[in-house]
Amino acid sequence: MTAYMDYKDLANESIDDTRAGEIADGVHRVLDRVARAQMVSGREEGSVTLLAATKTRDVGEIMAAIDAGVHMIGENRPQEIAVKIDGLRYLCAQRGIVLGTSDVETVGNLELTDDPEALDHLPLHLIGQLQSNKINKVLPDADVIESVDSLDLACKIGRRAALRGADVGVLLEVNESGEPTKSGCDPDEAFELALQIAEIDGIELQGLMTVGAHVDDEAVVRRGFAHLRDLRDRVRASGAEGTADCVELSMGMSGDMEYAIAEGSTIVRVGTAIFGERAFK
Ligand SMILES: *Cc1c(COP(=O)(O)O)cnc(C)c1O
Repeated sequence: MTAYMDYKDLANESIDDTRAGEIADGVHRVLDRVARAQMVSGREEGSVTLLAATKTRDVGEIMAAIDAGVHMIGENRPQEIAVKIDGLRYLCAQRGIVLGTSDVETVGNLELTDDPEALDHLPLHLIGQLQSNKINKVLPDADVIESVDSLDLACKIGRRAALRGADVGVLLEVNESGEPTKSGCDPDEAFELALQIAEIDGIELQGLMTVGAHVDDEAVVRRGFAHLRDLRDRVRASGAEGTADCVELSMGMSGDMEYAIAEGSTIVRVGTAIFGERAFK
């Protein structure tokens, strides 16, 4: 268990109006930034999805972000999903939203409709590192695992997903900045690795993910994002088995989403700019 989980009740559902208002303002500001960046870079409206990075935030805070219009939720740790998922699913179901994998039929005492098409689906992504002994913990809930950076992990995920009888989406995480503290595969190995992962049964390679370089230099940050886009284009152009759905580019966070959108990002993962600074790391 991560230490802050001892200090903050992440299952808490009730936050005061001031806090809910702050979060709603944060979401609206970020949606404005996304819209402006799309326009400035000539991207089609709605081509960038806003994922709320919800680590250290409780159920009440996350629901305020959902009510304000975020498109997806991204959690870093399987243990955090476990603590929050029942509350989130229930409150989402009350709003006619299915959170995460949609093979769920009842949530608490709420029966979801027979017609899943009638419900909105809010995807749940895992964006933090996954240890292989936690795969079974996230598979029933997560639509997409964004942090796959080795063939070994991808094979294990594929095997578990196939046993459950439901494919799971994955993104290949690439360490474009080369910073040693970051996870992700070596950019020089990413192309081959993507083709190998694309072939694995039980998983669907939906795209690539990276965390931008932690530097103040726009050119350096953008170079990493541009490289990820080029990689995605080459993977798709290969025509290799399983690469047709490799379309997503999950890149851009609170500090660099404009650069990422200019370079073709389709998913921005935003925490601080929505919820404020984290009290816990
Ligand atoms: C926390 C986190 C984010 C969001 O970062 P902010 O700077 O708070 O917007 C995005 N991606 C990953 C993988 C994260 O862990």
